[in-house]
Amino acid sequence: MPLSISRDDLIRTGNFIAGRWTEPTKETFGVRDPADGSLIAEVTDSDGGDAKAAVDAASAALPSWRAATARSRAQVLKRWHALILSNQEDLARLISREQGKPLAEARGEILYAAGYVEWFAEEATRTYGDVIPETVRGRKMLVVKEGVGVVAAITPWNFPAAMMARKLAPALAAGCTVVAKPAEDTPLTSLALAVLAEEAGVPPGVLNIVAASRSRAAEVVDVWLGDSRVRKITFTGSTPVGKHLARESASTLKRLSLELGGNAPFIVFDDADVDAAVDGLMAAKFRNGGQTCVSPNRVFAQREIHDEFVRKLGVRVGALKVGPATDESSQIGPMINRQAVRKITSHIQDAVAQGAKVIAGGVTEVDEESNYVAPTVLSGATSSMLLAAEETFGPVAAVFRFDTEAEVVRSANGTPYGLAAYFYSRDVSRIWRVANAIECGIVGVNEGLISSETAPFGGIKESGYGREGSRRGLDDYMDVKYVCQGGLS
Ligand code: ADP
Repeated sequence: MPLSISRDDLIRTGNFIAGRWTEPTKETFGVRDPADGSLIAEVTDSDGGDAKAAVDAASAALPSWRAATARSRAQVLKRWHALILSNQEDLARLISREQGKPLAEARGEILYAAGYVEWFAEEATRTYGDVIPETVRGRKMLVVKEGVGVVAAITPWNFPAAMMARKLAPALAAGCTVVAKPAEDTPLTSLALAVLAEEAGVPPGVLNIVAASRSRAAEVVDVWLGDSRVRKITFTGSTPVGKHLARESASTLKRLSLELGGNAPFIVFDDADVDAAVDGLMAAKFRNGGQTCVSPNRVFAQREIHDEFVRKLGVRVGALKVGPATDESSQIGPMINRQAVRKITSHIQDAVAQGAKVIAGGVTEVDEESNYVAPTVLSGATSSMLLAAEETFGPVAAVFRFDTEAEVVRSANGTPYGLAAYFYSRDVSRIWRVANAIECGIVGVNEGLISSETAPFGGIKESGYGREGSRRGLDDYMDVKYVCQGGLS
């Protein structure tokens, strides 16, 4: 597949530990192009020994990185930011190749990832503490913030650059050192980011990347979970793995940031601008082929506008161009792997078997030869369908009809998850009422694209805890220390 890149040295297949690149001499695993299954690279399949070597390196590098001034850490991050931007095209091509998102979106992801690096470079110098008015004469009471120590970052495949950047940048800004494991489907982008971090002057041992196959992921991460030198785990991925990490990190009481699954509602009220709602849903749902954790999973349309909304949505979705990232006109790339295709297909089949109507797309059986799924709109969705309870993570919009605000708020909240929610309305009172009533960490009101490095990203309930981005994103990597000096005259 001709997605060649101009800097061959960005393609690394070994680990990056203590400032050195290892050769993939021992066991390896294949990284495949989801568009056609072709082998892109064989990458080191790390074991517990590699995981421990990474923590040794991160631990050794911690004292000097923590002692560096915030400004000098910020300067390293600014250089990294500039390098990410100047290598945008190569990085985007790597993402498209290993993850399958259309090139235009991959270029956008690099800008988004770089945005986090720039933001935390700036925030690094603003980690202000407090001076507490003295309660006893002759006392000084100060609150200072300091990096938590060694951080373990575990990322998913859907945004290989952005998910890494929004964990690594705040960790490095806070004076933490990092051991990171990228997702097995997409390790090449993370390894390329590490090449640029090294070039930017991140000192040896401050950032360590360890790649592993799915079957070795637990072996690597278990070493980090059990090592008391690792003081924080930051994870984006599925709720079951997040719960496992929470349980297993309890023995050393690590701090945790967990950004887990969602089941986002997208509500269109009768008083909404229906065209704007269709635009919003297209952006929120069909970006990255629906493989986004804040992607709407259940679409609710109120009775009066329901038919118009479904008709307009069907036309737009039916016109989406499906194809490989190599084709600049592609709007929906391949799904990440066969397992994903099977899940999406089973959701469509189950919905149709329970009476849902196919408005656009539709899949009758799993195509065992290809990872492409036709973008689909279903109407007549009900709460008993698989897609009501589980995250489909694909280009399928299932529309539920509803009558009242109270009913739809109940339905929207009727899930263990609470990451994102969207709704469209022009009634100001309703906007505030519903925004207050929705149980989630992120609400889009008349807006389908809500992510920004300047805003806090994260969930509640079983979607996890902790926030990434914004000024709060740095606090998650810092401990608060209260210093009380007495005996002053
Ligand atoms: P997804 O369904 O999106 O692949 P996962 O939660 O399975 O989400 O994977 C997200 C990340 O968690 C990946 O880097 C994966 O390798 C890692 N992972 C998967 N299983 C485990 C496990 N048992 N322990 C630690 N990490 C894991």
